[in-house]
Amino acid sequence: MDDAWLPVDDTPLLLERLAALLQQSVREDAARHGLLPIHLQVLAYLARANRYSDRPIAVAEYFGITRGTVSQTLAVLERRGLVARQPDERDGKHLHLALTAAGRAVLARGWTRRLDAALRAAGAQADIGERLRALLTALQRQNGNRAFGVCRQCAHFLPAGDGHLCGLTGEPLAREQTRKICREWTAPEPAAA
Ligand code: SF4
Repeated sequence: MDDAWLPVDDTPLLLERLAALLQQSVREDAARHGLLPIHLQVLAYLARANRYSDRPIAVAEYFGITRGTVSQTLAVLERRGLVARQPDERDGKHLHLALTAAGRAVLARGWTRRLDAALRAAGAQADIGERLRALLTALQRQNGNRAFGVCRQCAHFLPAGDGHLCGLTGEPLAREQTRKICREWTAPEPAAA
């Protein structure tokens, strides 16, 4: 029988099982709070999004969903008091989506914390992170999606005095922003051999 379609090892199967388990965890967490999985996922995204990415358009890009779905999702989160709109400090017309204390409490014991604990217990966090990042980047390139990486690992992340600035926008980066994810993230060039 022709088995050329079979993967060369069981990594795809492991990833599929992990994805299924994580989806199940998200579903259970969401149900506990009377929410849908996408509500919880958007909440978790906004908790990690930097100030260029805490907008409805970025939410749509990150999840590959329509703006209409994003509007409905945000309406639920705002109605439940989990997310609030905050004016930009420099441009009052521009709004940021921020978690409220109630929104942060929903995430406090959620699936991301449990996953973090499982990774620590397996002692795999540092080792696995690099490999998964490379895999994610490759799949995003295949799909033509934005990468949404962590600011500190971006090609535009530059030292400036005691802190850092974004080489793309020229704006200084507050320390807590450098650990967040960004829709403008660009993979650094691989080091020359
Ligand atoms: S350095 Fe990169 S990731 Fe950070 S804010 Fe600028 S574009 Fe976004």
